[in-house]
Amino acid sequence: MARRLLLRRSPWAAGDRAAHVVAAQEAPLSRHRRREVRVRRPALARQSEDPASAGRDCRGQSRAQADQLFSGRLGMSDLPARFDRNIRLFGEEGQRKLRATNVAVIGVGGLGSPLVQHLALLGVGGITLVDDEELDETNRNRFVGAVNDDPVPGSPKVELAARLVRKIDPTIRVTPIRASLISEEVFATVKQTDWIFGCFDEDGPRAILNELCAAYAKSYIDLASDVPEEGVYGGRICVAWQGGGCLHCLDALDRRDVEAYLSTDAEKAGRAAIYGVPVEVLRETGPSVSPINGVVSALAATEFMAAVTGMRQPQRLINYYGHVPKLTTAKPKPDCYYCKGIRGKPQDADAERFLRMPHLRERRRRETRRISEPVE
Ligand SMILES: [Zn+2]
Repeated sequence: MARRLLLRRSPWAAGDRAAHVVAAQEAPLSRHRRREVRVRRPALARQSEDPASAGRDCRGQSRAQADQLFSGRLGMSDLPARFDRNIRLFGEEGQRKLRATNVAVIGVGGLGSPLVQHLALLGVGGITLVDDEELDETNRNRFVGAVNDDPVPGSPKVELAARLVRKIDPTIRVTPIRASLISEEVFATVKQTDWIFGCFDEDGPRAILNELCAAYAKSYIDLASDVPEEGVYGGRICVAWQGGGCLHCLDALDRRDVEAYLSTDAEKAGRAAIYGVPVEVLRETGPSVSPINGVVSALAATEFMAAVTGMRQPQRLINYYGHVPKLTTAKPKPDCYYCKGIRGKPQDADAERFLRMPHLRERRRRETRRISEPVE
């Protein structure tokens, strides 16, 4: 997962414009939100491990008083005590909904591995992990779940992530699939799964998975982190949910990058001859660090949690500007072909045509071989 898109169009440009609109829309809610935070603070304060403060939060409220606030959510639960703090936030019904949900994480690397950790801790019922790569030495700074003894080569990323899930909660159904997105097995997985997470570092696979999820009316969350220039870093998440927003209508794809990904080697050579240096030649390995990936993966897990448990509707796009820092949201453009035209119509979409493009699989096989070569 070392390939980066340093010279691509900044994914945050559109978010900046939208930020002013959203800020104006949300201003009247600020007082209400502050009140909500005050109500929830007792539960957060009880997490202190300081024995002196045990049973009492920072404002002197007793644990019994704080428990009273959430007693309606606790009930006589038969759910394991490990979910107690979850249930205090989104209720027993929300926890059961998470337990009844199957997710697939496609791309288990710097973004995917911290996401998997969040999903397992939330208590999701089934987690399918998809990646065709092995861990390499340069992944060790950000792959959550890898330990120093894991051999390189010889540690498929999906197996490391599956081990992480099993160690957190052995009752979760975890299925590692060592394959790339462009495979019958992964397409079949998407069709059978409730929620799909895409953790790629290229826009080509993003566009394919976006279309596949639209065709089969699957909920799709796409994650991206980026360092487009020195001193600028962050990321964004897109939530394609119930036909109200996707990577296309949220303007989150670089069309040139998608076209380059889908073209054959001959087409790429022809394009380079006409237009100059092909875009992928301009790519280089950029920075990628655990904390930035951690913020982006936590944002994705939070919107997933909100949508599944019914806490609120998920945001469709959240931009994270780590260097400022700030978060902004944006709304999709109307009348999207993917959200409205082909949603739930697999025969009209024919997303399976990507499986009939042998050059995509062949190029991926070449790249995977190159990635697996030991670092000099
Ligand atoms: Zn759309």
